[in-house]
Amino acid sequence: MEEAIKKAEVLIEALPYIKRFHKKVVVIKYGGSILGEQNIRQSVLEDIIFLSYMGLRVILVHGGGPNISERMRITGKKTDFVDGMRVTDEETLGIVTEELIKINELIVNELKELGGKPKGLDGSKDKIIEVEKKKSKIDLGLVGHVTQVDSQAMLDELKAETILVVLPLGVGKDKKAYNINADEVACAVASSLEAEKLVFLTNIKGIMRNPSEPDSFLSTLTINEARGLIENNVIQQGMIPKVKACIEALEKGVAKSHMIDARIPHGLLLEIFTDTGIGTEIIK
Ligand code: ADP
Ligand code: MG
Repeated sequence: MEEAIKKAEVLIEALPYIKRFHKKVVVIKYGGSILGEQNIRQSVLEDIIFLSYMGLRVILVHGGGPNISERMRITGKKTDFVDGMRVTDEETLGIVTEELIKINELIVNELKELGGKPKGLDGSKDKIIEVEKKKSKIDLGLVGHVTQVDSQAMLDELKAETILVVLPLGVGKDKKAYNINADEVACAVASSLEAEKLVFLTNIKGIMRNPSEPDSFLSTLTINEARGLIENNVIQQGMIPKVKACIEALEKGVAKSHMIDARIPHGLLLEIFTDTGIGTEIIK
């Protein structure tokens, strides 16, 4: 009996958060680095279904890094990254597209099996995500920078309680498809929909002063502190686009952004429905 009452208390504790987030948009970026592990994926997708049934409007943006890199390795193609972004020629784009479609279908099917109502969205189709060629110190090839998101189309889907599963490709003015860093897509989508939250699920506890030193974990950062960490090269590689995405999203009206370890069971629920903050939050 006591145990049952405790369970009810847990539910009631979540009520203020359920009220606050009802019908609010939450954008979740699920990193490729942690997508491949089935147990973790099941737990993450289960949380997403829960959020959806609780009345939150969920957009899931996924990456595909390791699968793409593995295909590139088999094909014998070299992969170059500049500040966490993959240099993309025509052949690479073909591989990127194939792998992203596979992952998208996998997530959509698993969400369906778990009882959700997901829909896959390819950003390069129907002008969902429009891009221009990304400028960089080194030519990145067919890598896009998001210029516009069809937020109305997304909102219409969300209002029908659909979980959107977005694949990070966009279309240029030249009608060509472009590869986009999934962190940037999540940022652009969250900004254009003025999401309540932008959450990055990744393979590390959060932002660290030294990624190999668990004690150097940082639980809260302001925009200025986060900028400082990029300038001082504390934030490197794949963490760079994530932190930049958080900063930009906050500046464009997103209320809060988080970096969460996908390996923590039900970390998403903890972050949204309790005061127990996990991971790193970046705030204004
Ligand atoms: P995802 O697939 O989720 O996009 P990435 O591998 O692209 O993941 O980015 C996360 C990685 O960024 C971490 O595993 C870590 O190695 C690296 N990283 C670089 N600098 C930092 C830092 N200061 N704090 C945490 N992680 C960092
Ligand atoms: Mg990455």
